[in-house]
Amino acid sequence: MKTIAGDKYSISILYVEDEQSIREGYTKALHRLCDKLYIAQNGKEGLELYKEYKPDIIISDIKMPVMNGIEMVRAIREINPDECCIIFTTAHSDSSYLFEALELQVNGYLLKPVQKNILKSKIENLSNIIIKEKINLEQKIQIEEQKTILQNIIDTEQNLLLVTDFQDVLFANSAFLESFQVKNVEEFNQKCERLLNIFLPLPNYLHQGLTNKNETFYDLIKKTDESKRSVTLISTHGNPKAYHINISQIRHKNRDSYLLSLTDITKMNIEKIHTEKKAYYDGLTGVYNRHKFNELFDFELKRVKRHNHNTALVILDIDHFKNFNDLYGHLIGDEVLILISAMMQKSIRNTDVFARWGGEEFIILLPQTDIEIAQDIIENLRVIIENTQHKSAGKVTASFGITQLVSTDSIQSAFKRCDKALYQAKENGRNRVATLTTKKQKLRQKVCH
Ligand code: GH3
Ligand code: MG
Ligand code: MG
Repeated sequence: MKTIAGDKYSISILYVEDEQSIREGYTKALHRLCDKLYIAQNGKEGLELYKEYKPDIIISDIKMPVMNGIEMVRAIREINPDECCIIFTTAHSDSSYLFEALELQVNGYLLKPVQKNILKSKIENLSNIIIKEKINLEQKIQIEEQKTILQNIIDTEQNLLLVTDFQDVLFANSAFLESFQVKNVEEFNQKCERLLNIFLPLPNYLHQGLTNKNETFYDLIKKTDESKRSVTLISTHGNPKAYHINISQIRHKNRDSYLLSLTDITKMNIEKIHTEKKAYYDGLTGVYNRHKFNELFDFELKRVKRHNHNTALVILDIDHFKNFNDLYGHLIGDEVLILISAMMQKSIRNTDVFARWGGEEFIILLPQTDIEIAQDIIENLRVIIENTQHKSAGKVTASFGITQLVSTDSIQSAFKRCDKALYQAKENGRNRVATLTTKKQKLRQKVCH
């Protein structure tokens, strides 16, 4: 049989008729109209054949011995309420049959003797409908299969992936759904009134509040430097998690949608903080190290040169620390270095910088501070150290060298003067503060205690 879909889709017919002559008269014609023909002599046989072969179309007489056509169709409808087409053929113009047939919602009711061309066109019409349905079903199955494959692929992705119009989530992978503890996007959309609400308004992270008038979140992400495209979401554990956000615009069902890919950078951020800590802070005392101090000193020296600020540089060196170590041991020495660092850090102003230079030497920068004020501040620090008591080893003292930065200074020249001042403090008996300024600053040398 040739159908709209060619040979790919077959049509099968079950023909139920108790009168042999009629049966034989139609068999040949029906054979030509389908790919497979099953023939039964009564309703019971017809039902058995239906159960076995599930034909697409049933052409059945009504009045038959053993089981009539109406009873057979009722039984078939019970097995499969709407999956096959039924045509009744009957010689009886009895309206009660017609009524019962209508109730069963059959597809045709032909009076005997049935004209072959009418039967032919009826079967061809039904075949075309059936084949269209078969094609639709196959396409549906294919789409579902493709969807499953796509979903499986994106579910292997650890990044959170979602398609959204920024109002609702239209599609998401399991990593996204799991992070919000929902089963599907519908549940997510119910829980979350607006997708953009999931991005927390934290400093340094992108969120809805940062968009200008007439600007979308997409515009905001696009204009933000790649390295700064970060957002934070509340995780299932309640803590904010940081993600790098990637975005691409897509057309979905004739409207603009966006594919968002969120990469968890919480761990990276923590590692960055650890690396920064290692790079900038002294491992023993926790105060800035020499590397960080140099960076801040550079910055301050530039300000001195540009604005002619008065800035003081100070070196602090613990007195006779070698003897102290020899007497109490290196571990107690370490404890004293930690203790003194904490005291100094606590006692300086917010704008001052305190760092460990190395060993038992520390360095202090006092921006925008006149030299006289610097001397007072440092004298105060000297007294604080003098009065700081270690729980078992008692006290230590420290000597200080101060200088004032000038616009012609380099790091080396400033440190050289500062070191000279320290040397004087040591020379003059330790536990004191010495100041050395440049000739231009009318060479000021002062050692005080
Ligand atoms: P001065 O008064 O001349 O500065 O004498 P000093 O003994 O402090 O100076 P010196 O430079 O001779 O010795 C510094 C000592 O500091 C030697 C070393 O054992 C100690 N020191 C350096 N770094 C550390 C440290 O990290 N922990 C401990 N416990 N001691 C340290
Ligand atoms: Mg020293
Ligand atoms: Mg020393």
